[in-house]
Parts: sequence; C-alpha cells; structure tokens
Amino acid sequence: MSNQDFSTRAIHSGSEPDSATGAVIPPIYQTSTYVQDGIGGFRNGYEYSRGGNPTRSSLEVLIADLEGGKHGYSFSSGLAGEDILLRAALKPGDHVVMGNDVYGGTHRLVNRVFVPWGIALDTVELTDLDAVQAAITPSTKVLWIETPSNPLLKISDITALAEIGHAAGVLVVVDNTFASPYLQNPLALGADVVTHSTTKYLGGHSDVLGGALVMNDDELAEKVAFLQFAVGPVSGPMDAWLTTRGIKTLAVRVERHSANAQAIAERLVGHPAVERVYYPGLADHPGHEVAARQMRGFGGMLSIALRGGAEAARSFTESTSLFHLAESLGGVESLISYPSEMTHASVRGTALEVPENIVRLSVGIEGVDDLIEDLLEALPAS
Ligand code: PLP
Repeated sequence: MSNQDFSTRAIHSGSEPDSATGAVIPPIYQTSTYVQDGIGGFRNGYEYSRGGNPTRSSLEVLIADLEGGKHGYSFSSGLAGEDILLRAALKPGDHVVMGNDVYGGTHRLVNRVFVPWGIALDTVELTDLDAVQAAITPSTKVLWIETPSNPLLKISDITALAEIGHAAGVLVVVDNTFASPYLQNPLALGADVVTHSTTKYLGGHSDVLGGALVMNDDELAEKVAFLQFAVGPVSGPMDAWLTTRGIKTLAVRVERHSANAQAIAERLVGHPAVERVYYPGLADHPGHEVAARQMRGFGGMLSIALRGGAEAARSFTESTSLFHLAESLGGVESLISYPSEMTHASVRGTALEVPENIVRLSVGIEGVDDLIEDLLEALPAS
C-alpha cells in the first residue's frame, strides 16, 4: 500500500494506460489462452486464463492494495472465494468458530458443505469476547468474523477478537463486504485474511458477481493460489474489468451511501411503526463506539424491526417503489429485503434465524429526500 490517498489508489493501483496504444483504460483481455514463444515460452508468465489473466491480475493487485495486504485473489463469487480459503485452511477434524449473525450463505457453506466433510462448526455471539474465548478448542483453526454483521448490523471488535484467535493459533478471517475497504481495513486491525463479496460495494452497480481474498501470509497465499488454479472458480475477464471499474468510484459512492443511511436511520427512529433501527451510526447502537474506532464511517446498510411483526414487515418490503425488493446490497440503487425469507432463509428454524419483523435496507446513492419519502409512504401508519 503506497501512502497515496485511498481515492487515488482506487483509480490508479494495478493498471496503467495500455503501452501499445495509450488507451487510458487497459484492454479487457478476453482470452482463454496465450501464445507461447516455443514450448514453455510464456510472455509475462501467462499460460492459460484459469491460472492467470492480465485483467484479473489488475483487479487482484488493486484489491490487495486497498486492503493493505500482500496477496490478493479474485473469484467468480464471494462464496467461491470463501470455499477456496476454507479448503486451504482446514482439514477433516478441524473446528470453525463463526459469528452467529453472518451471511446465511456463509453459514450454509460451512454447515452443509464442510461439516459433512468432517469439519466441526460452532456459532457464537462475537460481541461477547468471553463466549468467543470459551468456544475455541484445541481443534479450532478458523475464527470467522463478519462486522458489521448481516442483517443485524452488529459490530464486533476485530482487534480484540484477533488477539483471542492468535493466542490460540487460530486463523482470523474477516468478511469485510458490508464496510468495504474504504471504511475498514481488517488486516491493519490484526486479522489474517479479508474476504469480500465484490458483488456488493466494490462492484457497486449490481451488474457483476465476484469475490476476493486478501492476506499477508506467504504460505497460506501459496495454498490459495494453488487451489484457485486447481479448482478454477476465477472471475472472468469481463467480470474482473467491471469490478475494477466499479472500484474507481468506491470512495465517493460509500461517502454518499453512508450519508444517506445516516439520514434515513435518524428519520426512522421514533416512527410509530418502527420498534428499532439497527444502524451503527446511531449513538445508542451498542457497537457505536467500536465502529467509530475501527471504521472510517458507518456504511450504507441498516435494518429496522417493525412493531407490526411479520405481516407488517412483509407488507412494507412489498410496498416501496424506489427501494426495489431484491436480494443483494451495495449497488447505487436502493434495495429492500426481508432477510428471514430471502438472504437468511437457509438459517430459518436454527439458532441463527432472523426475527420475522426485520427488514433490511441497502441504501443507495439516490436523493435522500426521495428515499425517505418512499419509505414513509410504504410504512404502516402505526
Ligand atoms: N458475504 C456477505 C456479507 C454477503 O452479503 C454475501 C452475499 O450476499 C456473500 C458473502 C456471498 O457473496 P456472493 O453472493 O458474491 O457469493
């Protein structure tokens, strides 16, 4: 990471104008393979695009820089990256400790793919450091943190958790999807690995799937690079290029997402139909102080609990017009979702189930007055 400003690095790191033509935006290397100058005569090391592609390499350098890490890897989706990391870090008999409020798909990956393969899983309240300490056993190899969490916007203390994990020799992983590297850099706070669904704020326009891993450890990086090549869930050139393009505006987008979310959160507090607003930028949010310490802003995600229960929550999510009812988050357009039947349907009926009166908002960068009007019109009167 150079000492240039984040916004400068987001625009320039990893790519230079094309040396052959001067094109300011480097070409999309939409190729599966590379000509060899005699057998094994690879130009710049490129042999076959599962192993490496210049458009993907640019993105990998960029994300590593923005997270302040030595090694970056880009994948076809966030979960593909998580899968590769877990394969690199675990073997049958190992144990994973995971936050009890992580993305439902992450829990499903470990619980339904890795547990049958011989991995043990325990979920824990990450804001309770004693509970985390107690959950770690001699077999624990991975502590999986998501902060802010999904969908209840819980904030856990990355530095304190990393200390607990490291004292037990555990790999500390942070899913930084909700914050984005603009607001939070987990490696600088003590984590070993950062994961992203680049589908969200990094891509930023709801037009591409992707995932990323960033780490400093050379040995782990070598395993991840091998698995990325051997298994093959890489981002294609077009997807990598779209993600790189999105990242160039990450700083200005996240500033606006955060300002809009803060204004909406403050407006909804005290609304007669709203029981509670979950947003770390509110002074009475239980994680506000930790968030203020480890993040540079509070982000564009918020959830609300409705007094009218499941019926009110379902009806509200189906009544907005600017906020589109859809899965996902982090795009320029506002989205509304009903976690218990959408993003977190896979954890219904378990200890991780999301209360049925919760609605999640991914606040976009539209005019905030229009967004507030849309929400107020859709909310039940009381
Ligand atoms: N992590 C978080 C916090 C997410 O919200 C998601 C997707 O919603 C993922 C990981 C998985 O990413 P993807 O959908 O790109 O596989």
